[in-house]
Amino acid sequence: MKSYDLIVVGGGPGGSAAAKEAADSGLKTVILERGHFCGEKNSSGFGLSPKAARDFDYIKDLDVPSLWPTKFGAMHIIKPKPSNEDRMLWGFTPPRRAGYPQASEYMVQMMYRPDFDQWMSGKARKAGAELKLTTLATDVIREGENIVGVVDGKGREYRAPVVIAADGAHSLIARKAGLRKRWDKDQVTVLATLDYKADPRRVQEYLGDTNVHIFMGPDRGGYVCAFRDGFHIGSRPAKTLQSEIDAGKNLSTRSAMENVQLDFIQKLIRATRAKPAEFQLHFLPWLKSFNERIYANGLMLTGDAAGVPEPFMAEGVWQAMYSSRLAAQVAVRAHKEKNFSSDFLKQYMEELKVSPVGVDFTSGPILRDFFEQWTSDTFYQMFDNLADIMFYGMLTMAEPHAEGMLRVPGILLEMLPQIAFLTRYYFPIAEEAARGKVTNFINGMKTMAPMLQGMMNQNSGGN
Ligand SMILES: Cc1cc2nc3c(=O)[nH]c(=O)nc-3n(C[C@H](O)[C@H](O)[C@H](O)COP(=O)(O)OP(=O)(O)OC[C@H]3O[C@@H](n4cnc5c(N)ncnc54)[C@H](O)[C@@H]3O)c2cc1C
Repeated sequence: MKSYDLIVVGGGPGGSAAAKEAADSGLKTVILERGHFCGEKNSSGFGLSPKAARDFDYIKDLDVPSLWPTKFGAMHIIKPKPSNEDRMLWGFTPPRRAGYPQASEYMVQMMYRPDFDQWMSGKARKAGAELKLTTLATDVIREGENIVGVVDGKGREYRAPVVIAADGAHSLIARKAGLRKRWDKDQVTVLATLDYKADPRRVQEYLGDTNVHIFMGPDRGGYVCAFRDGFHIGSRPAKTLQSEIDAGKNLSTRSAMENVQLDFIQKLIRATRAKPAEFQLHFLPWLKSFNERIYANGLMLTGDAAGVPEPFMAEGVWQAMYSSRLAAQVAVRAHKEKNFSSDFLKQYMEELKVSPVGVDFTSGPILRDFFEQWTSDTFYQMFDNLADIMFYGMLTMAEPHAEGMLRVPGILLEMLPQIAFLTRYYFPIAEEAARGKVTNFINGMKTMAPMLQGMMNQNSGGN
């Protein structure tokens, strides 16, 4: 039996972020990871959002071989089936109005998960955490009401007064601790990815700086993420497992396979001499509201295990790092107070709920509804009309420009149903998001009112 201050189950981005934070603060920490190396079983590659660099100082040192910041993205609006052609291609750089420097430098940083997960676990080890690979945690150890450690597949015991379970979407520890049985079928999304290996020089030549392509059209969607020596083709993440069951077919696999047929992808495969390498199907928690059942006596769940991937696009790595660091900070405080009860660890849930991770669940159901509709005909028609405003209207070279310009108001009128569609979703979301801000503003004014009144009285007294 081995004793620690903190046991972290899972060596993904969440587990390593927790272990680094705890070890930096002086806790004797161990990470138990079932893989031969961190990132072994994870989906091929991903985009790390700039929020990670904003919130984690050490991300500025990230230097893994596959790292490729996305400085230019492209969105393809695909014609209705059976066509596989683009109707419109829209390229974009990061936003001009970004709220912090990294967000205006790149949209995401693309890289392979094994690269990133090993780099992260390296940071945790450097801080002093122990990493135990090929170690599958199979159960929790209880003393009365308290969880005081975990046991692995070989029956070895690891003891600590507090455990952080960062063991991913299927979290065995969450189930063993009795926090849930499994996610409901409408709480998970299914994502299919098809990986290709390609000639690195040709990838660079063909794609230039544009390593993310998004596809949208009636009844379709998906993306291509490129890495230095290949790319993966992904499905649209807009359906839950329940919707796949209701449809009686595997929509995500179909979506990824259909995307392979797109003209752009066929050309990419040919130009880069790409060869299929791997097909993967992953579950990802995709909750409409913030999950509060993420703590127990001696236990905190973080990352996918806690269900924190955001409810709109299912981004989850920054969320895993953020929630895990918070849990580690609470674990450090629990050690100082010598209190590992669920009453104490509840602080973790409460702080996460009001953090940017929790706030992203505001308007979750409305955003989800919007997301489920957004490849509808309405959405396609909006871009179809926008294309005609440009090239049948203002920029026409087929007829005199003056005639083209006269057509613009008519096309705008045709767009009314699409504008109504967008406003139907926009206003409820904006109202929800503004509610807290408006209340804060009014409360702020209330506290300032006596002060302002005092100043006014003083002024009138002097006259
Ligand atoms: C196809 C796909 C694409 C995605 N793209 C993006 C993206 O571009 N950007 C983004 O931010 N997010 C993306 N996500 C979401 C992201 O992958 C997850 O939210 C993120 O990996 C969560 O991190 P985590 O540390 O909580 O869990 P994980 O990354 O799942 O790590 C869990 C770790 O625990 C280990 N483990 C599990 N059980 C045990 C056990 N019992 N004992 C020991 N070890 C165990 C696993 O081996 C694993 O290493 C994507 C997800 C999918 C499926």
